[in-house]
Amino acid sequence: MRIGGFNKLTTQDFPGNLACIIFTSGCNFDCDYCYNRDLVECHAPEIKEEEIFSYLEERKNMLDGVVISGGEPTIWDDLIPFIKKIREYGFKVKLDTNGYRPEVLKEIIDNKLVDYIAMDIKAIFNEYFKVIKKDIDTDKLLESIELIKKSNIDHEFRTTIIKGMHTIEDLEKMIDLVDGDPYYLQNFRMEDTVKAKKMEGFTEEELKNIKEYFKGKSNVTVRYV
Ligand code: SF4
Repeated sequence: MRIGGFNKLTTQDFPGNLACIIFTSGCNFDCDYCYNRDLVECHAPEIKEEEIFSYLEERKNMLDGVVISGGEPTIWDDLIPFIKKIREYGFKVKLDTNGYRPEVLKEIIDNKLVDYIAMDIKAIFNEYFKVIKKDIDTDKLLESIELIKKSNIDHEFRTTIIKGMHTIEDLEKMIDLVDGDPYYLQNFRMEDTVKAKKMEGFTEEELKNIKEYFKGKSNVTVRYV
């Protein structure tokens, strides 16, 4: 597994836990709005696992958990042994995924290897290509959604919302896919690393309208940043 980023402390990315974040390189999608292109294209300098584990050894009594994000962590065949090793240090694990490798998720879920899963849903299924720029089999996404929903593991689904790409009707269809489970809408923000420079997020007023539209769905949270 190639690790391309390491954030030593986060209070926000693993609900209820003080954690660090490991970012794996490489991805099976190619989203125009990706904030992490250097990771996705494997340009970020590799961070050795020894460095990570030496940090974890020192923080055994100070951190609760480790977030594994990317890139897309499930593309790596040695992800599972890596997670097992982190657990041996006594840490909880959260996995961020785009859900395109349900077979890996199944093994992780069946063996209860993680404590939290966050899966991105990028668009309504017949528009996925517009966002991720790859032809994919959306049945795999549906399989991952079902696995996560039935997992008995804390989880959330989430979408980075982009003006001109997601209509309110699209968002409603996407939210309905998860049938009441926690769903976060997080606004796109432009960063230097984003490839498509013309993309934009919603204004505060528009976000308020989105929030108002979904107020009857208690599982939906609009994140403003
Ligand atoms: S799935 Fe995530 S990491 Fe991969 S290209 Fe899309 S936004 Fe970037």
